[in-house]
Amino acid sequence: MSKTAIITGSGRGIGAAIAKRLAKDGFNIVINELSEEAGQQTAEECRALGVKAEVYAADVSDYAQCEEMVKKAKEEFGTLDVLVNNAGITRDGLLLRMSEENYDAVIRINQKSVFNMTKLVGAIMLRQKSGSIVNLASVAGLYGNAGQMNYSASKGAVIAMTKTAAKELGSRGIRVNAVAPGFIQTPMTDKLTDEQKNAILGQIAMKRYGQPEEIANVVAFLCGENSSYVTGQIIEISGGLSM
Ligand code: NAD
Repeated sequence: MSKTAIITGSGRGIGAAIAKRLAKDGFNIVINELSEEAGQQTAEECRALGVKAEVYAADVSDYAQCEEMVKKAKEEFGTLDVLVNNAGITRDGLLLRMSEENYDAVIRINQKSVFNMTKLVGAIMLRQKSGSIVNLASVAGLYGNAGQMNYSASKGAVIAMTKTAAKELGSRGIRVNAVAPGFIQTPMTDKLTDEQKNAILGQIAMKRYGQPEEIANVVAFLCGENSSYVTGQIIEISGGLSM
């Protein structure tokens, strides 16, 4: 039977690239997005690669919505072998100007969603005694970033959660790893000013921004058999932003 991967926030950007890369590897794909419409393009592109793909609309920061989505996906696909916790947002601003609302929103969507989905899909993987979970962290979670108190806190937590889940689930054949991207060209980073983009570019050893497919390739490695003894690791993919 084919394996199934569920990727949160996979209607666009890095999530869409991961969905298509895993479809190329033969995984059936569960696309999660805030609205069903937003995920349809990715679903069509996955189906064109010869695999089954369905869109499930759910806000991954809401436990009840995640529960409903995971239940439906399990019924429809039979197994859930890979979970990629990709959905995320930014609400940047310097600490003294950051609203409580923007702090809480980023923590809820970037961090609590990882708890929701890892608990729910992890329970299915525990019964199967196999699975691979990959979390999208960030260089901001490793090193901090001015203007991103909320975002760097959420991604630092995702790194700690990756290691904790790896320790809890490893003996049951479930691996948990994270990637920490630097600056990747997606709708999330398009909204930065040219001044901000140029400042980041100056710090990148490879002197170019990353592409979503360059994240997807590493995620696919972590999802597949070639990384069968890798767990609890955080792989930075930043073109040499920090060394
Ligand atoms: P993006 O904004 O282009 O895409 C994020 C997707 O997540 C969108 O389709 C959005 O609708 C979805 N989403 C947002 N909130 C959601 C929710 N509550 N429930 C379900 N879906 C939701 O972002 P991206 O650049 O593709 O980023 C993907 C992941 O990679 C994020 O976790 C981000 O923090 C991380 N990351 C990105 C970069 C970068 O440079 N782009 C760098 C480091 C880490």
